Amino acid sequence: MYTLYTDPLHRIAYATDASAYREVPIGVTFPENEQDIVFLIQEAQKRQTHLIPRAGGTSIAGQVVGNGIVVDISKHFNKILEINPEKRWARVQPGVVLDELNLALEPYGLFFSPETSTSNRCCIGGMFGNNSCGSHSLIYGSTRHHVLEARGVLCDGSIESFKTYTVKDLEDRFGNRFWENESEVLIQNIYAQLINWALNDETVRIIEDNYPDKGLRRRSCGYAIDEVIEDLHNEAKPLEDRTINLCKVLAGSEGTLAFITEIQVDLDPLPPKEKMVVCAHCDTLQKSFLGNLIALQFHPAAVELMDRNILELSKQNTEQQKNRFFVQGDPAAILIIELRGETKAEIDAIADELEKALMENDEKLVYACSRVYGSEISKVWSLRKAGLGLLTGMKGDAKPIGVIEDTAVTPEKLPDYMADFAQMLENLGLSCVYHAHISTGELHLRPIINIKEEEGKRKFREVAYQTALLVKKYKGSLSGEHGDGRLRGEFIPMLYGMDVYALMQDLKRRWDPSHVFNLHKIVDTLPMDSMLRFEVDQQYAIEKELKSDKTYYNWKAAFDECKVEGATGAKTQLHALMCSIEQCNGAGDCRKSNLIGGTLCPAFKVSGDETKATRARANVLREILTRGWGSEAFAHALNKDKSILKSEELAEVLDSCLACKGCRSECPSNVDMTRLRSEILQHKYDVGGMTLRSFAVSRMALVEQLGHLVRPIYNFMASWKISSNIIKRIIKFSTERDIPTLSRVTMREAVQKYRKKQHEKGTKGKVYLFADEFTNFHEAELGLTFAKLLLRLGYEVKIPRHVESGRAAISKGNLKLAKKFALKNVNILKDVISENAPLVGIEPSCILSFRDEYPDLVPAELRTQAQLLGNNALLFDEFIMREAKAGRITADDFKTDAVEIWLHGHCHQKALVGTEKTVAALKLLRNAQIHVIPSGCCGMAGSFGYEKEHYTTSLAIGEMVLFPTIRKATGNTEAITPVVVAAPGTSCRQQILDGTGVHAVHPIEILFRWAK
Ligand SMILES: Cc1cc2nc3c(=O)[nH]c(=O)nc-3n(C[C@H](O)[C@H](O)[C@H](O)COP(=O)(O)OP(=O)(O)OC[C@H]3O[C@@H](n4cnc5c(N)ncnc54)[C@H](O)[C@@H]3O)c2cc1C
Ligand code: SF4
Ligand code: SF4
Repeated sequence: MYTLYTDPLHRIAYATDASAYREVPIGVTFPENEQDIVFLIQEAQKRQTHLIPRAGGTSIAGQVVGNGIVVDISKHFNKILEINPEKRWARVQPGVVLDELNLALEPYGLFFSPETSTSNRCCIGGMFGNNSCGSHSLIYGSTRHHVLEARGVLCDGSIESFKTYTVKDLEDRFGNRFWENESEVLIQNIYAQLINWALNDETVRIIEDNYPDKGLRRRSCGYAIDEVIEDLHNEAKPLEDRTINLCKVLAGSEGTLAFITEIQVDLDPLPPKEKMVVCAHCDTLQKSFLGNLIALQFHPAAVELMDRNILELSKQNTEQQKNRFFVQGDPAAILIIELRGETKAEIDAIADELEKALMENDEKLVYACSRVYGSEISKVWSLRKAGLGLLTGMKGDAKPIGVIEDTAVTPEKLPDYMADFAQMLENLGLSCVYHAHISTGELHLRPIINIKEEEGKRKFREVAYQTALLVKKYKGSLSGEHGDGRLRGEFIPMLYGMDVYALMQDLKRRWDPSHVFNLHKIVDTLPMDSMLRFEVDQQYAIEKELKSDKTYYNWKAAFDECKVEGATGAKTQLHALMCSIEQCNGAGDCRKSNLIGGTLCPAFKVSGDETKATRARANVLREILTRGWGSEAFAHALNKDKSILKSEELAEVLDSCLACKGCRSECPSNVDMTRLRSEILQHKYDVGGMTLRSFAVSRMALVEQLGHLVRPIYNFMASWKISSNIIKRIIKFSTERDIPTLSRVTMREAVQKYRKKQHEKGTKGKVYLFADEFTNFHEAELGLTFAKLLLRLGYEVKIPRHVESGRAAISKGNLKLAKKFALKNVNILKDVISENAPLVGIEPSCILSFRDEYPDLVPAELRTQAQLLGNNALLFDEFIMREAKAGRITADDFKTDAVEIWLHGHCHQKALVGTEKTVAALKLLRNAQIHVIPSGCCGMAGSFGYEKEHYTTSLAIGEMVLFPTIRKATGNTEAITPVVVAAPGTSCRQQILDGTGVHAVHPIEILFRWAK
């Protein structure tokens, strides 16, 4: 039985989707079965409210934003019910994620072909609701073309199967010429209405005259009445043989007509193995529109566009930087043209002709072409798909706004339509980003507008209105794929005419006479500029509360340095902080499951709970820090006199974050929740004090330093069950975890002692080792091993004077303390460390603080020096590969004994530098077989996994991928080649030991063991 959540956390988390809208729902619920939906309909009727069906919540036109009850089906309605490979169909529940369905279909050589850019988190139910499609819509069409059958609940609670019926089938069920009379039976009336329209010549004429061009491949605007009645007025057939399938109109109906509980889709064979993309570079946008028409003559599988702005933004995103390898020069636009065939030679021949046609013409439409083959193609698509996310991450109040972002006209009309469109923008004084599905005449057009200003809000409406006029002129569709939601409904009467609009209103009334389903979407929408996420001249509640502009990080620096055209920057530090939160556009990349991979976001992956995704954190931070207790979600809250920083909702979303930095790199908008969390935690401490645990963890290095003076007593207290349990209880650590004991000597002492015994002087250069607080006190032997390795490889090794990295303080939000460490380290090391004498670290999270956090923690006047220091503060593998590249370290320095290595990268390493260099360093062992575990965060995340209330979650995160992989890899006791599990993170090694009993080693230890 479902629970209705009416608490502020759920209501805020579900108040937005990926659109510009925000409206707080009265409640949120997660039905478990069809009967729950029936009860929910009754509940909604009783409360005189409506249900908002919601899947992945990635809609851009505000489809799942409203003041009713949000019904999230992604949690329980997510099963694949049946796959029939012979007949090529699959039956699924609506909450199944598209990529997960396609993973299950892969062994059968099949897939569900309308692939949206959001395929790793959007659900089949949401795709059906919006009639979604993707880059290959040229050959595969949209979801409407692939839904064979659906099952769902109507507003009277009756359950129906929607599939193809002949008029005879319907007459058998409802009686001869049943459409001539009104009935008590809802479904009968629904069919009757459509049959009556189809049999009325005048109605058919109105529809044919006013709906968009038939040649349009993409259309998600208004109800598809024309398609659902198409066969009913096919006069070539006897009436009784004519067919109707209500799925045609349900596709794209945005949850306004029925609640869908099952969907049967047809499947396509996987594309042929041989593929290639030609990336055609144009020096003006207009040339790309014309180039598209040439490309279409070569029957490509897809043609997509990326303009200069997108390419520029991709330079600033860690994840996407590596996907730009094919870009030549500084193009105004790139056409990505996908060719498919049976053999490489066949496609190359087509590409030769295509490139000739594009480049050798009078207009010189294309100045360069890059060909990309095989696995590299996915990188090109990844860059293209990240486009929209990258855009909405633009820094500052002005954003490339979703308002007319998926208009479509036939491709032949695109050059003229675009010329008119550019003129319109110029008249309005706006600039725009252009990208995406050019082959089908649909471009994602995002004018850059600041809707926080009155003038911007006016332009938001004006651009929508004037574009609708242009779309009408070119007989296109106002939405090619994203749907109407609450954004475009207002323009449907103008676009389709009042007669068609009246039919659409009648259709909605017929299906939903009691107003239960998703009100004010498609028809009878509210003004398109109401209920926006940002209000004009909105003040921030936090500003009043803090009474100052003081932040602990320098948030503004990144805004000042953003070079993207149109970016407005930030006025103050607090403004920059708020804009950094507002960078979350709701696109939902943080809802990927562990089947999809990546790190982002472990807290969501393990729970499937929206309130634990990065998006919810950003939504809650934005709402609370902007509207404070004034938010509708807090209408019934008590204690409104206390600081908003003390609100439970804020505490809850910060608490479930592991600070793994997964979002820092994988969120296309670079929402850096690790950093936001630290900043807000420090402000919370400022008003309410710090917990004993946070204080103890952030001062752990000091405790260890003191403990080292009385090491035997410290170790006894840490390992004797009774004393250690008392300590754990005091600081609220789980008693299941062991407190790490101290090494006999510190790393600093061990290395110094060892060096004294060495007489040989390194000839290859000087290396400064960073004796981070974890290695120094707990794993001195590892630190010594690294020193020995470097000495053996011919380097001079020193440990400079420095203080702890402050990693624990940063992760606990004790930024006042972290700033002190950062300042000290920068001051001490700035004149010592250089490119020729780098600082090299063993523990990823510590050494990477130099690069990621220090420049924004030190005073602004030290920023440049901190950045320089950060650039020369290298992780062990970065150093080894730098030296390998220079030829100073080679495979000849290592033995050739075989070894099988299973590598789990540290999550900060993955987020900031990736694991590629660790793999490359381990490949110096010629006979090493290396497997990178696709594990994301291990679940320990510093002290998170030690904390009592997080212990179970921490292990559950490990159980998703990491532990089972390690158990399997190490399970074969008869393996001849030694199997080693490698993990550069100290917490990761502890987590692996606790979760599997396997002792993982640092990659440095493997390199040392194999060093000659
Ligand atoms: C960055 C980005 C890129 C995008 N790229 C594309 C693209 O390439 N192609 C494209 O087509 N779209 C794209 N979209 C839009 C969006 O991702 C798609 O429309 C997607 O299919 C929506 O799926 P969802 O699971 O998020 O659905 P939701 O947003 O949750 O819901 C979509 C609609 O379906 C309805 N619905 C959901 N479940 C049910 C149900 N059980 N019964 C009845 N109605 C239901 C909802 O009420 C809503 O109206 C993009 C969006 C973003 C943010
Ligand atoms: S946090 Fe990032 S990935 Fe998640 S919804 Fe926001 S912008 Fe998208
Ligand atoms: S830091 Fe990690 S846990 Fe926190 S929001 Fe980002 S991805 Fe999720």
